[in-house]
Amino acid sequence: MKIDFKELAKEYKTPLYIYDFDEMSKRYLELKEAFEGEKSLIAYAVKSNSNLSVIQKFGKLGSGADCVSIGEVLRARRAGIEAYKIIFSGVGKSNEEIAQALKEGILMINLESEAEMYRVEEVAKGLGIEARISIRVNPNVDPKTHPYISTGLHENKFGVEINMAKRMYIYAKNSNWLDPIGVHFHIGSQLTDILPIKEASQIVSDLVRSLLAIGVEIRFFDVGGGLGVVYKDEEPIPVEDYAKAIISSIRGLDLTIVCEPGRYLTANAGWLLAKVLYEKQNGSKRFVIVDTAMNDLLRPSLYKAYHKIEILNDEKDNEDSTLSDIVGPICESGDWLAKDLLLPPTKSGDLILIHSAGAYGFTMASNYNTRGRPAEIACEDGKCRLIRERESFEDMIRLEQRYLEE
Ligand SMILES: *Cc1c(COP(=O)(O)O)cnc(C)c1O
Repeated sequence: MKIDFKELAKEYKTPLYIYDFDEMSKRYLELKEAFEGEKSLIAYAVKSNSNLSVIQKFGKLGSGADCVSIGEVLRARRAGIEAYKIIFSGVGKSNEEIAQALKEGILMINLESEAEMYRVEEVAKGLGIEARISIRVNPNVDPKTHPYISTGLHENKFGVEINMAKRMYIYAKNSNWLDPIGVHFHIGSQLTDILPIKEASQIVSDLVRSLLAIGVEIRFFDVGGGLGVVYKDEEPIPVEDYAKAIISSIRGLDLTIVCEPGRYLTANAGWLLAKVLYEKQNGSKRFVIVDTAMNDLLRPSLYKAYHKIEILNDEKDNEDSTLSDIVGPICESGDWLAKDLLLPPTKSGDLILIHSAGAYGFTMASNYNTRGRPAEIACEDGKCRLIRERESFEDMIRLEQRYLEE
């Protein structure tokens, strides 16, 4: 839908996160349709955008949830996602988290190490609840993405080697407290090359064939998330090609395909709206200082990530445009949102629109420098509404206040 950003800034102030729910739905349905004719479950990766209303939106479309902490599992439950559609992943889960996940009755716990398997078995035994599990295997393929977000090589902390996974499946099959029902891989994020996905899918489907042959009844083929999106000039993988690659690798097997997209569903359905405070010139360097910062949107500082930024004033790029950095008010040199951008002159109060901020935006936000996190807005069917209030000073000190000494 056409969103009136100026009006939203007037009504809700800045900085402000804004999400297009129609766009999120469209992307979900396109992906779901790509798997038509197969048994499939899309488990939305909650960590990309965990606002309850966002999770609820996907839940209403039939989505499950991929969670990496018990907090995310509880968010998904609170937003109405059925327990049998929830997967709990992550390299380190505490006993309490495992116990709570078992009590919730989620679809499966995704194991990332042998030690974790024994831990889950022990907790399951203590509760008298059999734990449905999958194992995250590391197929050792290079996803050709940013090193910080690549996870499918042995040098990464994620998953277990194929041979180790086989031993674990045999152990789990013979355990009274473990029920191995799934296999999982997730080779990285922001994938734009289909070959590593094909390769990984083939390696893992071969593992499934060998497991089925020895009586380990795998039913869920979980291909993780990681579908890339356009931030600048990337060429994303068409979802039809993605689905075809996966479907063809498991031909002849009776499996439910699970996929866990996060960024693909949310990144380009969200913006961060902010305001210019003033400009500053240090020698030859021009800075545009804005009212949002790395505490609101960490990706530029953390990954040197590119976000398209638009100035919403009437001046178009003109002969007065010069190179400028866009920076926030935080006391860190790493606090920048864009570097060396060709910008026309701006004035105090001009709005700036940061694109592709729907994923790993608000969820990575913090209170650094005691800055309240932004409000969040959902736009849908021609209307916009508040889905999270702006954090106030009182919100930020609530858990400390009563410990002040007299
Ligand atoms: C982060 C993550 C995802 C989602 O990744 P995107 O790149 O946002 O699609 C899915 N599954 C697992 C296990 C993850 O850790």
